[in-house]
Amino acid sequence: MSSTFVGMPAFPEAARNAVADPTLRGNLRHATHTIRAKRAGAVAELSDWAELREAGRRIKDHTLRHLDRYLEQLEASVTAAGGTVHWAADADEANRIVTRLVKETGESEVVKVKSMATQEIGLNEALEAEGIRAYETDLAELIVQLGKDRPSHILVPAIHRNRGEIRDIFAHEMAAWGRPAPANLTDTPADLAEAARLHLREKFLRARVGVSGANFMVAETGTLVVVESEGNGRMCLTLPRTLISVVGIEKIVPTWRDLEVFLQTLPRSSTAERMNPYTSTWTGTTDEDGPRTFHLVLLDNGRTDALADQVGRQALRCIRCSACLNVCPVYERAGGHAYGSVYPGPIGAVLTPQLRGTTSEIDASLPYASSLCGACYEVCPVAIDIPEVLVHLRERVVQGGPAVRQGNKVVLRPAKGHAAERAAMRAAAWAFGHPGALRAGQRLASRSRRLHPRTLPGPGRAWSGTRDLPTPPAEPFRDWWQRTRGGKDAK
Ligand code: SF4
Repeated sequence: MSSTFVGMPAFPEAARNAVADPTLRGNLRHATHTIRAKRAGAVAELSDWAELREAGRRIKDHTLRHLDRYLEQLEASVTAAGGTVHWAADADEANRIVTRLVKETGESEVVKVKSMATQEIGLNEALEAEGIRAYETDLAELIVQLGKDRPSHILVPAIHRNRGEIRDIFAHEMAAWGRPAPANLTDTPADLAEAARLHLREKFLRARVGVSGANFMVAETGTLVVVESEGNGRMCLTLPRTLISVVGIEKIVPTWRDLEVFLQTLPRSSTAERMNPYTSTWTGTTDEDGPRTFHLVLLDNGRTDALADQVGRQALRCIRCSACLNVCPVYERAGGHAYGSVYPGPIGAVLTPQLRGTTSEIDASLPYASSLCGACYEVCPVAIDIPEVLVHLRERVVQGGPAVRQGNKVVLRPAKGHAAERAAMRAAAWAFGHPGALRAGQRLASRSRRLHPRTLPGPGRAWSGTRDLPTPPAEPFRDWWQRTRGGKDAK
């Protein structure tokens, strides 16, 4: 299996393949149902959950509205605390910056904290191409990396794997990356965790460079925050001499007071915990404590385009809790790989087409990867109305025409029925604006009802081929109303 999403088919084809895999379906059903039930219990414990959710929404909206100001404040705070800020417009620029920074240290390996931003830009592959090896240290990311696999969930990237599969991956692949798995490795969670712990510990102790993302950045002090459950993040953030953090520009919160809201909603929404086991915060550098050098790479990569979209920008509120994935009936059956991006599930269906555009076949298919049931909106701790954004993006895809492959290129082709649909809508608008003509047309339709065809001619055939055309009534509604209501006209 390829370890990147490059060349993935559009969602319908990828999903069709995924739902035919009973092991995958079983793994996903078990995992998502377990997490979603625990989350519901953790959220129900808080009597002020609705207020926290609303506060989170407001803080994020306010920050996004004044993002330029808060980014400048953050840059000044990080610089004053001894860090260096770099600005990356896209994935290539971010990868070039990180590669250069690692090379300047003279090292050829880095340890990584789980980070969606670095996956989004393909940092591991970019480093590999320059002879630098990146070691994932989050347990699930380690499973994905050793298995030459792709992540399929924001929080639990190896959710599609069961214990037996993980045991096999450890037994066969660990030796190629460092300390091998114990010879008698079983598939019990304690044994698997111990094998990972021993394998990773030598990397933590050897590493001179750490690479991370961040869940939040506090503008007022220039503090970065990583929340995690395993302690691997704490190791990567404190032991290496150089720390490089790649963070999306939307991860800012103005103050520590604002951070308090998300430190309550994120753990309950993601892992159903009351608080995170490890919450690491760092502000620049401190003599004789933690990394001596700190670089912050602020990543745009399509975020300012999303910010310019009045409906779509709400996706930038996302705190990557993954609650929407765990309740989504489409994700539960199709799995994460079908979304062709490191952002799967409902949030991926609205975020990826905004970050990458809708010009490729797969990105244009993502807004349709939903039943619009609204479960994602109900659980989202920052109240992103994902169904609203999905419908909005479908409109954008249709107006742009479908993306089609021509040889090696994907091009936008104007939708065939589009001009006809617009003409029909214009005709309908005219008729509804001229009651006399509408009445005459309705009477004509009623009187000629036996002559109406069952299918439409020309481009309309595609529409009527899958629908029954309604038969006009023998008497138009307005005439019936006049006849039975004593001559009062129907409004
Ligand atoms: S969209 Fe909402 S529910 Fe989904 S991952 Fe983001 S914050 Fe969580």
